[in-house]
Parts: sequence; structure tokens; C-alpha cells
Amino acid sequence: MKRNINDNTLEIVVGDITKEATNVIVNAANGSLLGGGGVDGAIHQAAGPKLVKACQEVRNHELNGEELPTGEVIITSGFQLSARFIIHTVGPIWNQTPDLQEELLANCYRNALELVKVNKLSSISFPSISTGVYGYPIHEAATIALQTIIQFLQENHIGLVKIVLFSDKDYNIYQEKFQHLVEKI
Ligand code: ADP
Repeated sequence: MKRNINDNTLEIVVGDITKEATNVIVNAANGSLLGGGGVDGAIHQAAGPKLVKACQEVRNHELNGEELPTGEVIITSGFQLSARFIIHTVGPIWNQTPDLQEELLANCYRNALELVKVNKLSSISFPSISTGVYGYPIHEAATIALQTIIQFLQENHIGLVKIVLFSDKDYNIYQEKFQHLVEKI
């Protein structure tokens, strides 16, 4: 499913994000940036071993050795991926900070889109951040993801934004919310 928003395209597909050829793919990482399971593991596997070294360098030089805070983003090369860059972000763990979690999840999407804009890139693919191991209920996460992306696209020009869902079940949830939200535009 695809819609035009202020001369941008927002598209939702089912697929494996490691295969996406957008300028950027987003990794739902953990704060260590050293790899993990789920989409993080798949991206590290597909990008190759130089990715973990690049992430370590970012931690040492840009983060003073600290973890990447929830909702924040960093960018690395895509190495062996078709995508030129990977934006790594850390989604909120469900109910770890209940008062902040909606804002933190929105920050992941907004900060990644800002970085695409600042770097004058024109396409980005997102996975469904926080809805795997981090346990964020997908109906709520989908609404936050879509509202944040739609609002950003109404105010900025990026080009193509894709959301790449890993199952038909996830796709159907996002698609239903998307239809509901675009009716209001
Ligand atoms: P988090 O820790 O942020 O919850 P996960 O990787 O556990 O991250 O899950 C986030 C989402 O990414 C889940 O919906 C999961 O099914 C999905 N996912 C896992 N592998 C891939 C992949 N290769 N491409 C796209 N989405 C994926």
C-alpha cells in the first residue's frame, strides 16, 4: 500500500529489510550497538563484520563509550547491504518507562527522518521498532510510527519512506491504521 503525502511517498510492504535498496535502512538496535537478535541480528549478518567495528568506533568516539540512549540515532555505512547507510536507533522496552514510551518511540522515527533530511538522502526503510523482543504492543506502536512519519512528511520533503513488515499479520495491522490515518489528511 502506497500514498502520496506532500510530494513524498509513504509505502508499506511485507519483506526482509536487509534486502531493501533505499539509501538508508533503520536498525532497531539495543543500546550497546554490538548486535543482538531479531532485525538487529539479521542486519549485522547481512552487512558483514565491518558493521560491528563501525558501531564500536561510534560508541568510543561519539558516545564517550556510553550506550546509545533510547530514542536517539547514529548512522553508519551499510557495508555489504544494498542500502548505503544504516541508521541505528534504540526503541523503548514496553513498560520500562510508561510515561515516556510513546514519546521515545516517536523520537526513533523523527530523529531518523531528521538525519535523512540533514544528509540530503532521499529514501529510507523502517522496521517495526520495539514490537519484537522489546514487547511494545503492535497496534499502539503502529499508530505512533505512522502518525510520526505522516506528520514529518507533511512538513518536510524526503522522497520515499517505506515501512517493511516481517509478516502478513504485522502488515495488516499497519495497513489498517494507515488507511484510517490517511483518510484524515
Ligand atoms: P525490538 O527489540 O525493537 O523489539 P526486534 O528485532 O525484536 O526489535 O523486532 C522488531 C521487528 O522487526 C519485529 O516485528 C520483527 O518481526 C521484525 N523483523 C525481524 N527481522 C526482520 C527483517 N529481516 N526485516 C524486517 N523486519 C524484521
